[in-house]
Amino acid sequence: MAKYEGTYACGHDGVVNVIGKMRDRQRKIDYAFSHLCPQCAKKEREQQIVEENKNSEVLSKEYGFPELTGSEKQVAWANTIRLDFYNEFENNRTAQKIIENETVASFWLDLDRFNSKREFLTKYERTKKEKERRERIIDIDAVAPEDLKHEGVVEIVKKLDKICLFYLKDQNFIDLVKPKGYRWNEDDCCWYRRLNEETGKYPDRAAEIGHELLRNGFAICIHDSEITEKAINGDYEKERTKWIKYDLENKVLTLHWSIRSNEIYNASRKIVNSRYNREKGCVEIPVAHYRSVNNFAKKFDFCYTEDALKAIEQYKKEQREMRRVKVDK
Ligand SMILES: [Zn+2]
Repeated sequence: MAKYEGTYACGHDGVVNVIGKMRDRQRKIDYAFSHLCPQCAKKEREQQIVEENKNSEVLSKEYGFPELTGSEKQVAWANTIRLDFYNEFENNRTAQKIIENETVASFWLDLDRFNSKREFLTKYERTKKEKERRERIIDIDAVAPEDLKHEGVVEIVKKLDKICLFYLKDQNFIDLVKPKGYRWNEDDCCWYRRLNEETGKYPDRAAEIGHELLRNGFAICIHDSEITEKAINGDYEKERTKWIKYDLENKVLTLHWSIRSNEIYNASRKIVNSRYNREKGCVEIPVAHYRSVNNFAKKFDFCYTEDALKAIEQYKKEQREMRRVKVDK
């Protein structure tokens, strides 16, 4: 890299780096020094922005745009973005509405990140319609406890194999649903739980979480009057937490329970050939001992998954159909 000294158009001295063919260099050097020095250029750009923002402020008033809220710098820059937006979509009705309604400066700063403003307009219109529709529906179905303690309404919805909870961001709410196995879903902006054989069916889980929410002072909305009644009355099938499953790979029955219990553990280990699987946190028992497992299940209120029942039936069948032979004595 070659450095060349010289004087910029503003009169400040400086050094420029020029590379390339020797015969082109003088031209490049002259060109570089024909401008303002970097400091002066920066100052000039800043000055231009200030003037542009001032100009936007004046025009915004003239056009009757609402005043923006935010820090002084935010408002100044947002005025310019809004004015550009207006110039681009002067006759678009949604654009008009946006200008009328969106008076927080940060909204306009965010909008500037959209490469396509047209795309933004479409999205804005769509989400607004969805929001309005949603609010109407919630209004119809919502119920609130007498002792209402929290803003808004928790909407409980079934989405494929998931139960989803839509609500405002609220720590009390999070503290209530998280221990019940709900997780945050960034894409859908909701707390959800996947339903399967062990969690039980949607109506029971919806009524259960709905009941808990009502008891804790939240208004809820379940788009099903029967389930809503169940949530109000606390009338639903409790979630089963003790399960006998089947491990297809190792061909063993596996005992699972979520609440720590030495009594259950000791009883399970008394079954012949039982084995504790530390990794999976369950007790494994060969299918051959299904009778002992059955007694254990009755005593401690365990239930079987479909797969476990099938495995036991299969075992019994094999036993029945085994060839019986007469043995010479
Ligand atoms: Zn200068």
